[in-house]
Amino acid sequence: MRNIAKKSNTIEILNTYHLNASKKYGQNFLVDPNVIIKIVECAHIDEETVVIEIGPGIGALTEVLAHYAKHVYAFEIDERLKDVLDDTLKECTNVDVIFKDFLKVDLDAFVSQIDSEKVAVVTNTPYYITTDIITRILKSQSKIRSLTAMVQKEVAEKLCRGEKSPVTMMIDYVGSISYEMTVSKNVFIPSPHVDSAVFHIEKERTIPNHLVEIIYGAFKQKRKTILNNMKPFFEEPRKALENCGIDPTLRAQQLSIDDLVKLDQERNKL
Ligand code: SAM
Repeated sequence: MRNIAKKSNTIEILNTYHLNASKKYGQNFLVDPNVIIKIVECAHIDEETVVIEIGPGIGALTEVLAHYAKHVYAFEIDERLKDVLDDTLKECTNVDVIFKDFLKVDLDAFVSQIDSEKVAVVTNTPYYITTDIITRILKSQSKIRSLTAMVQKEVAEKLCRGEKSPVTMMIDYVGSISYEMTVSKNVFIPSPHVDSAVFHIEKERTIPNHLVEIIYGAFKQKRKTILNNMKPFFEEPRKALENCGIDPTLRAQQLSIDDLVKLDQERNKL
């Protein structure tokens, strides 16, 4: 391994390729090898695991993932990184870098052709699309088993506190989340404005699309009651709520995922 994440190595690579970190693509390169090892440990990767990495950057996390995993597919949007990654990852024969916007990939079709039942997503998230990435993984109908992500600390804290939102409701349905560690903003080049944190989501099952619709519908107008927000879904929303034993004056934030599952089942009876 080249130990790309060592600060002097990263600086040398950035200088050699005259690379400026792109703000547009949320580039903050991690320069602490210990943090990289810990992220890989949190992801529970073994030689049967196929990893999907979002945003390899110059390959700092990728080379370590490749060391432990069966295979790594890394999606990178920034084509300027082609020559860099060809060079930095040349010894990693089990890595494919795919130059595509991860949000535009047909994820379920991609995962269906992966030859392993253990598929893990790992990412030092480009912060401008954190929520989009998390929701894509949660909604995916594929065999993806886990998501280990570095995000802004505040985002990780909100998710792990279970503050009710469509995302935390989906997490409650598919499995569980754990807060793994706080990471100082000083271990990135360039340094972001705030500290980061790593969380790990373990996916035990997939979530049906019709339940996702109910979840988003329930939170559509956060200040309105569940009675109001369920109007588009039922001809007689008050009756539906009554059948599910849910107080119609509550807001979505006061409900549990079990309540929303009941509403989904009630809707499917129609
Ligand atoms: N993994 C590297 C590390 O830890 O040092 C880089 C992390 S950097 C925060 C985020 C990376 O995601 C950048 O390389 C950026 O170009 C890439 N990226 C941004 N938007 C993307 C997208 N939509 N699809 C794929 N990669 C993206």
